[in-house]
Amino acid sequence: MKKEILLVALGGNALIRKGQIGTVEEQFANLRTPIGQIAKLSRDYRVIITHGNGPQVGNLLLQQECCDAVPSLPLEILVAQTQGQIGYMIESTLDAALMGLGIHTEQPLVSLMSYVVVAEKDPAFLAPSKPIGPVFSEEKAATLPYPTRKTGEGYRRVVASPKPVTIVEKREIRNLIDMGFIVICCGGGGIPVIREGRAFSGVDAVIDKDLASAKLAEEVGVDIFLIATDVKGVALHYGRPEEAFLRKVSLDQAARYLKEGLFPAGSMGPKVEAAMQFMKRGGKRAIITSIDAIEEAVSGSAGTEVIR
Ligand code: ADP
Ligand code: MG
Repeated sequence: MKKEILLVALGGNALIRKGQIGTVEEQFANLRTPIGQIAKLSRDYRVIITHGNGPQVGNLLLQQECCDAVPSLPLEILVAQTQGQIGYMIESTLDAALMGLGIHTEQPLVSLMSYVVVAEKDPAFLAPSKPIGPVFSEEKAATLPYPTRKTGEGYRRVVASPKPVTIVEKREIRNLIDMGFIVICCGGGGIPVIREGRAFSGVDAVIDKDLASAKLAEEVGVDIFLIATDVKGVALHYGRPEEAFLRKVSLDQAARYLKEGLFPAGSMGPKVEAAMQFMKRGGKRAIITSIDAIEEAVSGSAGTEVIR
């Protein structure tokens, strides 16, 4: 019998934790915790790993601002760069973990550049809302060639965050999984592209990595969808005295809490939405948990599970 397929979506904080400056050494050290657990799980599951790229793409955007000696790069290219750099870090950390377990020969792995199609007419393009990259003063922001918005920290560039329509490499990913590969893909939500006749063309946007992962999970036929982040699960009244973490939440309850604004856009909101989408479209299990508790969550003793 074929092993079940487990998709683990790693949050940006799996690589750079809050308060860290994000050196490469820090990023490698942070990855060992989730990747060590994923290596063990690969004995019992066929595994797909997706990952965020917020801090990394933010650093690349800052580099663009700091240097006039070379042409600056569009966002789609920066997303592609982060898929390369983070894919490399995950792959080499995972390789070492598999070797440590003595299963590297039976467990090949591959990291894939991934495109994700978005709709040219997605309403998100009319009102870019996702803040990315460095913080600017009001004076500097007024001179920039792209839209900015005032945030808690200062002015930041905002880009559209359109919905993922389809993962371009879904068949390749499915084939690699069936051949026994652990596949690292859809980094940073994927390189956003629109269809232009028979070709694809990159667009200035970022796709939420949790929503892209849910789309991938649906299209590849994943059994267990696990979102790993820096909190132990989904809480009601997060950060308040009456905060209460949920162990299980039904689709109906989750929809109600979302509507009541308990899960903010840009952090817990898309995770809950992604888990709900996966369960609505026939997935077996969807869990939101901490990067320290991936194995426990798969065994059913940690995290928040969205149930039908
Ligand atoms: P990631 O990089 O993993 O995508 P995010 O920062 O986007 O992480 O989302 C995780 C964060 O969501 C947590 O660190 C927490 O501060 C925040 N959060 C907001 N609302 C909630 C909630 N209701 N329950 C749990 N965490 C929440
Ligand atoms: Mg996030």
